[in-house]
Amino acid sequence: MKDSIKTIAFDADDTLWVNEPYFQEAEKQFCTLLENYLPQHSVSQELFKTEMKNLHLYGYGVKGFVLCMVETASRISNRTASLELIDKIIAIGQELLQKPIELLQGVPETLEQLKGRFRLIVATKGDLLDQGRKLRNSGLESYFHHIEIMSDKKVSDYQKLLKHLECKPENFLMLGNSIKSDILPVLELGGYGGHIPYHVTWTHEQHEYNLKHDNFMELKSIDSILNYL
Ligand SMILES: [Mg+2]
Repeated sequence: MKDSIKTIAFDADDTLWVNEPYFQEAEKQFCTLLENYLPQHSVSQELFKTEMKNLHLYGYGVKGFVLCMVETASRISNRTASLELIDKIIAIGQELLQKPIELLQGVPETLEQLKGRFRLIVATKGDLLDQGRKLRNSGLESYFHHIEIMSDKKVSDYQKLLKHLECKPENFLMLGNSIKSDILPVLELGGYGGHIPYHVTWTHEQHEYNLKHDNFMELKSIDSILNYL
């Protein structure tokens, strides 16, 4: 169907492997630690506020998340949080950085089918070291020609990536779980986008409305892409 597609880029977190449930579990632990100061849902809202305020400074990933938890704890405890509590917050972050890699269903089988027919790459946000670790532990590294760990996924970031890959937008397909980060900027450039929904999405990545576009595919699961190629 899409004869022009030559390069397929995969988002990593919640597209190739489980990520957001680990963050939500970490956030739940954080909210429990601070429930003496505020109800858990308010702690969660405060944390999100801190994350949005600092996103342009820290980017995406666990290390920025830890700093945001510390800042939030300081603020809502009115600077009275103990160093013991800060230690616990740091431990939450360190645990996140050592989570096992759980591949999502159909991932290796789909990559196996596409290998050799397309140039396969990973395009993900997050901490350089952490995403590198996840990729190594995933056992998927050998499928990919190129790994791009991006500080953001805006139109200009994809433009840079395509330039680096010497790939025209019409030859490029991006697959991912975030309409906002993985699909819309690529469609804007004239590329193709395939959305693979995941059951939990971080508030910042949520996107509510039905997308209709000639270059857009809504997929049930990752292997559904094989029906289009
Ligand atoms: Mg993702």
